[in-house]
Amino acid sequence: MDFDTIIVGAGVLGASTAYHLKRLDPDRNVLLVEKEKRPGAGNTSRSAALYRNIFSSVASKKLATSSIKYYLELGSEVQMDPIGYLWMFSERQWKGSKRAVSTLDNEIDEVEILGPADISSLLNINTEGKGPFPEVGYGIFGHLCGSLSGMGLAQHYAGRFLELGGVIRNSTEIDGLILKGASSSFSPWDEAGLKSISTRDGKEIKAKDFIFTMGAWSQDLLGRYGIFTGTLPKKRQLFGIKVEDPYQIAGDVDLDKVPALILPAGGTYVKPILHRNMMILGLADDLGQPYSIEGPYHDEEHFNRGIVPVIEHYFPDLKDWELKMKWAGHYSYHWPDKNPVIESVQNITWAAGTSGSGIMKADAVGRITASKVLKIKTADLFNGSKMHVSDLSLKDRNVENESFVI
Ligand SMILES: Cc1cc2nc3c(=O)[nH]c(=O)nc-3n(C[C@H](O)[C@H](O)[C@H](O)COP(=O)(O)OP(=O)(O)OC[C@H]3O[C@@H](n4cnc5c(N)ncnc54)[C@H](O)[C@@H]3O)c2cc1C
Repeated sequence: MDFDTIIVGAGVLGASTAYHLKRLDPDRNVLLVEKEKRPGAGNTSRSAALYRNIFSSVASKKLATSSIKYYLELGSEVQMDPIGYLWMFSERQWKGSKRAVSTLDNEIDEVEILGPADISSLLNINTEGKGPFPEVGYGIFGHLCGSLSGMGLAQHYAGRFLELGGVIRNSTEIDGLILKGASSSFSPWDEAGLKSISTRDGKEIKAKDFIFTMGAWSQDLLGRYGIFTGTLPKKRQLFGIKVEDPYQIAGDVDLDKVPALILPAGGTYVKPILHRNMMILGLADDLGQPYSIEGPYHDEEHFNRGIVPVIEHYFPDLKDWELKMKWAGHYSYHWPDKNPVIESVQNITWAAGTSGSGIMKADAVGRITASKVLKIKTADLFNGSKMHVSDLSLKDRNVENESFVI
């Protein structure tokens, strides 16, 4: 069967793009292909699925703010839990982040700047510094922040796409692109572009347009055919600990009121699920972590050396805990500005480079990617704002560096 458009990769970006493309162009015959057994089973399912509108660049803020508004309307369908987000800084980090912090508007962005005493009233934390662990000097509390289900969101978009008549093929891995004409030695007058894609089990699927939303796998496949996606994969890991007494963290605060936390040491972050006696812990390590799609394999040394000492310093009352879960995935990075990339070459479009914040931006990125394929220059976002599609391209990129990256 031939299609008008094939979308490869049914993570949260691919599923969102598929839905928005069908919504904007209902007669288009669209196929969404996924190598795993169901949509969302790639890095979308491995993420912490926290959402926030705390960003310094206009682009990231716009993408997240509009997407969050859409997710809030979905509510329990995607397990929206608006617990808030507390990003903590030492005095020195705060001075260094002055420019980024000045881009936040307390009222519009629904953020509050907190001092150590305010922070101590939100949870049972040690705000003093010692050795390599800086003091807690300031915090940005984001009210328009929380957690959701990444998998639930991908399933939401996939379901809507199917309702509109889209086709999904799971367990189908694309292992090659078949270019029009002479493949690698085009004459200038040849019609260049992609004719079809091949599956691992030897089938060929044809379409007029192709969208690649393969996240961390994008460069690995497209690079083989002369495309530089502007994105690279990097491993990230998460560890789930079971805590015997969650009030050792929450103090006097209700368990479901403790926000997501970014601690001032080494990019350690906490997703609290205290009502289920759990905390998910991550660490944004960088140097030494290769840009590679290998594995990903989790390593407990990373947890023991990087995360445990930080948790022990800031939560000295946390006594009885046990490591229960660990897993690894990949970020798809765009360097240097860390905003998503949505670009096209001939009839090939790709969307990736979400740099660890793809779930919270997926609605807007899906709308912009669909608009790009439909040759609409300015995409309409859910909250009524607009974005020039070319702003996220590589050729005509028009975005600032994003400073709030974890
Ligand atoms: C540890 C960790 C924590 C994170 N925490 C957060 C967070 O708190 N908040 C947030 O917003 N983001 C977070 N992220 C980032 C978030 O997971 C990603 O930005 C988001 O999932 C990207 O979606 P995607 O659709 O681009 O990628 P994916 O979900 O990876 O989708 C790509 C899909 O393409 C499929 N695919 C790949 N190659 C092929 C092929 N050859 N043929 C067919 N299918 C193929 C894959 O199976 C996959 O399903 C985190 C990521 C990690 C790893």
